Amino acid sequence: MAKFVYADNAATTPVTREVIEAMQPIFETQWGNPSSLHAKGREAKAILDDARSRIAAVFSCKPTEIYFTSCGSESDNWAIRGAVKRLAAKGRNHIVTTKIEHPAVLNTCRALEKEGYPVTYVGVDENGIVLMDELRNAITDKTAIVAVMYANNEIGTIEPIEEICELAHAKGALMFTDAVQAVGNIDIDLSKLPVDMLALSGHKIHAPKGIGMLYIRKGVFIDNLISGGGQEQRRRAGTENLPYIVGLAKALEVAKEKLGELDRVVKMRDRLIEGLEKIPYSRLNGDRVKRLPGNVNIGFEFIEGESMLLWLDIAGICASTGSACSSASLEPSHVLLSIGVPHEKAHGSVRLTLSHENTEEDVDYILETLPPIIEKLRNMSPLWEEVVKNQNKA
Ligand SMILES: *Cc1c(COP(=O)(O)O)cnc(C)c1O
Repeated sequence: MAKFVYADNAATTPVTREVIEAMQPIFETQWGNPSSLHAKGREAKAILDDARSRIAAVFSCKPTEIYFTSCGSESDNWAIRGAVKRLAAKGRNHIVTTKIEHPAVLNTCRALEKEGYPVTYVGVDENGIVLMDELRNAITDKTAIVAVMYANNEIGTIEPIEEICELAHAKGALMFTDAVQAVGNIDIDLSKLPVDMLALSGHKIHAPKGIGMLYIRKGVFIDNLISGGGQEQRRRAGTENLPYIVGLAKALEVAKEKLGELDRVVKMRDRLIEGLEKIPYSRLNGDRVKRLPGNVNIGFEFIEGESMLLWLDIAGICASTGSACSSASLEPSHVLLSIGVPHEKAHGSVRLTLSHENTEEDVDYILETLPPIIEKLRNMSPLWEEVVKNQNKA
């Protein structure tokens, strides 16, 4: 059988058997509308309440602080738009975010800028960690919301969210974190972490695509994004996607149980990094320590990332350049540019993201497949020819 290795778990993850099994009966028999007053509706309502309570238990928060959405992007949009629209009346219309956020945050901020809301985009250091002094200076008494991602989707860098909360709260601003990549990789206890809002997405943690969640702390009020019926405590209209909500609850419970098994993923990640760093003219992107367990992002000079992906794909390895979201454009990744990788080098980066589903054999296969691909591509590059010539001279 042809080899197949899925190493693009930051783009999406396979829905696991236990999640499918949790959702199956909802599709088949419990298809009622939770808002209906009759038996079928009451049955669905009980399932919805149960899923919400189980998710609250995972995060040590209240069930009433959990709002289901259609995806991570919607949660990001809602948190930021909702906050500035609500708080502008109180003289707070300013947004502080970073240069390395996911497009769901960055493009929401850009759109709000056009509507007249000022935005400050804070920079990061060479490893992708937010510049704390720059952040502190950016937050003013006009700032409505500080939006900083918990962990970066491209380079896997984990941000100091607790400290950032302190800075935001010291100026009376709300603190929002896009935790889409962090969930399942970091134990998030919302009874301790003082964020006001937190976004997550189902399909990055082995639930289906098309289900997301926004945590909104009790006492925090933001404008609604989706108008309609009275679902989700009158704050997010739309008949609840019960099967996917049940799938999300299951996926979050499993992810929490498996936090203790992440050591295995970290070992695979580090073996992969170590092996790929042996390739000359390579560079690890992102922080070596404050890094998501499954994230490998390495730049190879004198290589076109797209050609590398193509050859990996032919060999049955699913990987990604920068991020899947920007792969349709030829612009180099905004994250790599923000950490100071020059344009020409940003193009030669590969992102390999592992999950619990990956094996040591997968790592072996990548390590035996990728180096010859790099060699082949470099041998076709005139720039590489120069490098070799100069080496021979020296
Ligand atoms: C995938 C991702 C999103 C978007 O989630 P969707 O459910 O695909 O809309 C937002 N932020 C980060 C960091 C992500 O990785």
